[in-house]
Amino acid sequence: MKRLSILGSTGSIGKNALDIVRMYPDRFRVTAMTAANNTECLAKQIEEFKPEIVAVIDKERALDLSRLLKGNHGPEILFGEEGYIEAASYKNSDMVLLAMVGSAGLKPALAAIESKKQIALANKETLVMAGDIVMARALENGVSIMPVDSEHSAIFQCLQGNRQKDIKKLILTASGGPFRTKPLHDFKDISLEDALHHPNWTMGKKITIDSATLMNKGLEVIEALHLFHVLPEEIEVVIHPESIVHSMVGFKDGTVMAQMGRPDMKGAICYALSSPERLDLKLDFPDFTGLGALTFEKPDTKKFPSLLFAFEACKEKGTLPAVLNAANEIAVNAFLEKRISFQDIFRHISKTMESHTRIDNPDLFSIIEADCWAREKLESLI
Ligand code: MG
Repeated sequence: MKRLSILGSTGSIGKNALDIVRMYPDRFRVTAMTAANNTECLAKQIEEFKPEIVAVIDKERALDLSRLLKGNHGPEILFGEEGYIEAASYKNSDMVLLAMVGSAGLKPALAAIESKKQIALANKETLVMAGDIVMARALENGVSIMPVDSEHSAIFQCLQGNRQKDIKKLILTASGGPFRTKPLHDFKDISLEDALHHPNWTMGKKITIDSATLMNKGLEVIEALHLFHVLPEEIEVVIHPESIVHSMVGFKDGTVMAQMGRPDMKGAICYALSSPERLDLKLDFPDFTGLGALTFEKPDTKKFPSLLFAFEACKEKGTLPAVLNAANEIAVNAFLEKRISFQDIFRHISKTMESHTRIDNPDLFSIIEADCWAREKLESLI
């Protein structure tokens, strides 16, 4: 029996993970759960999965949740950053699924590592912001970090039975998002509704916008750098609109291994939870003859400069990746609130990165300071 803390249980990764727990109640038990603000959904999940502790973002929502649960013998209800940290390091859990959105994942991730919990990592921002620190602490504490992101799960799976030193290249695939074929001169007319419509994957709002700007792939490049100990020049991004090949690894001898499947997050989540075992998820294989062809193309960095920003951030390192990440969070939020246009996202991030004075080998404090600086800077540009 694996006991799980699920941070971000009401998001799309969290819900998919709970589907897996529902399918395999003899293997998994949820002992801790957190959700930022969707208390109604969380209350239903609590009734079904009966965790021992839960956490929400603030006291007000903690009171809401307590009312929704009608004072039944429910879980202990915590709130705020301390609540998340408690859930991430909860004594009765073996593995922590970090599936919350954005930089809020960093401190719980470190808390989970310090308490030697195994980690299933869906929150890419954690590694983007502080990959060097997180990976070093994981190594010190003997904690393995299992990737949940489909691309990194694919690479992890392709590496099974292979040696790290035989890797020549990681090839990350990207669907290209909803604007892959839209000409650049029409980008000024992109609406929020257009951007929220992802062709292949159903995901939360932030990551859906990140997919439309290709920033999601940019953040994944930085994530891959840390997870697989490669150099920026050993990572290539390839657009693959069918989203069947989830990523590939090229080896010294010219062999390329690809991991394929239908675009359904359950596969990657379940592999992170149960690897090396594979559980029957009742998922169909891709319909290869129906598809007829799998296609690949180069990303257009004129349309999507976010990839250039990400490669710059991983070459420059220091506090720049954290600045990129924070600037992106604020820009995406502002776009979701219709305060800026789609192309402003790129403009504002670029300006914020340009005006940052980078610190090399930053400690956690400097990273968090750079994160705050970038948020204020981007907000001032709006
Ligand atoms: Mg991904």
